[in-house]
Amino acid sequence: MIDGNTQLVGLIGWPTDHSLSPAIHNTAFAALGLNWCYIPMPTRPEQVAEAVRGLAALGFCGANVTVPHKQVVLPMLDSVTPAASKLGAVNTIAIAKGADGRPLIRGYNTDRQGFLAALQESRFILGPGSSAVVVGAGGAARAVVHGLLYAQMEKIVVLNRDVERAQALILDLRNHSDEAARLHALPLTAERLVSAVRTASLLVNATTVGMWPHMERSIWPDNMPIPAHLIVFDLVYNPPQTRLLEQARESGAHGVAGLEMLVQQGALAFEIWTGRLAPVEVMRTACKEALQRGSSP
Ligand code: NAP
Repeated sequence: MIDGNTQLVGLIGWPTDHSLSPAIHNTAFAALGLNWCYIPMPTRPEQVAEAVRGLAALGFCGANVTVPHKQVVLPMLDSVTPAASKLGAVNTIAIAKGADGRPLIRGYNTDRQGFLAALQESRFILGPGSSAVVVGAGGAARAVVHGLLYAQMEKIVVLNRDVERAQALILDLRNHSDEAARLHALPLTAERLVSAVRTASLLVNATTVGMWPHMERSIWPDNMPIPAHLIVFDLVYNPPQTRLLEQARESGAHGVAGLEMLVQQGALAFEIWTGRLAPVEVMRTACKEALQRGSSP
């Protein structure tokens, strides 16, 4: 029950009505008996700065930030983590009291770590000797490529419909000249994709292809098996079982669902706000149930 001691967090984005995060977090708070509440707060693009100041003024502990505000919110914060700064995107903010009692707002990006945690769950061993193909060059692909660089992946090929966007991603994310040799950008075609995965151990779909309501679509061509040695990670989480994951299963390749990354990035935000270990299994079940109830992204 909400009372005078309830700690508040929420989501700023535009729109927010299909978000699964309220269900995930409120179920997790209840499971741990925490007097916390997560509220969706649809925020128009021209009102983001006011909304962030308002959160601090109203005593919120933090918030998630979603599309289309993940980039524009950065200059409105007192500090951001090095990873969020490098990615140029924040998906979680935490509000603490400074020494003078004034609120201090810090920005985080939990997508990168959420992606790596989901891979770890699948027992995929990252690191020297392994290589990845990432399809997509939007915000999610940035978090994925940054995570793979951080995990010392030897080679990362980024394929995107708009190849200039893939090239820009690579230029923005590489830290040292040695990383330039590990990153490659290519225009997305079925032939290039099939050829690129031959020597890779991981294929990531970081595009919107296959997302509800176009669930029949896939980045992988029809009537062509996916190499069985591949780990296929589809960031799309609605539907939880995408056409691409279906193709992976039919070919004997191991699939990882985007839902796991959603849960893991949510668990990290939960831990940043509450300082408590997140009940990941409870959050996973809440996420699946919310999807079954018919939420869409
Ligand atoms: P975004 O910034 O809008 O980027 C969209 C990407 O999809 C771009 O690379 C775009 O290519 C590509 N794309 C769109 N339509 C395409 C088509 N018909 N054929 C080929 N490529 C196409 O979106 P985002 O924020 O990165 O999100 C991408 C996906 O990741 C979404 O499905 C989102 O739900 C998912 N996601 C999942 C999680 C999670 O926790 N599981 C977290 C974040 C995002 P162009 O550049 O050529 O337009």
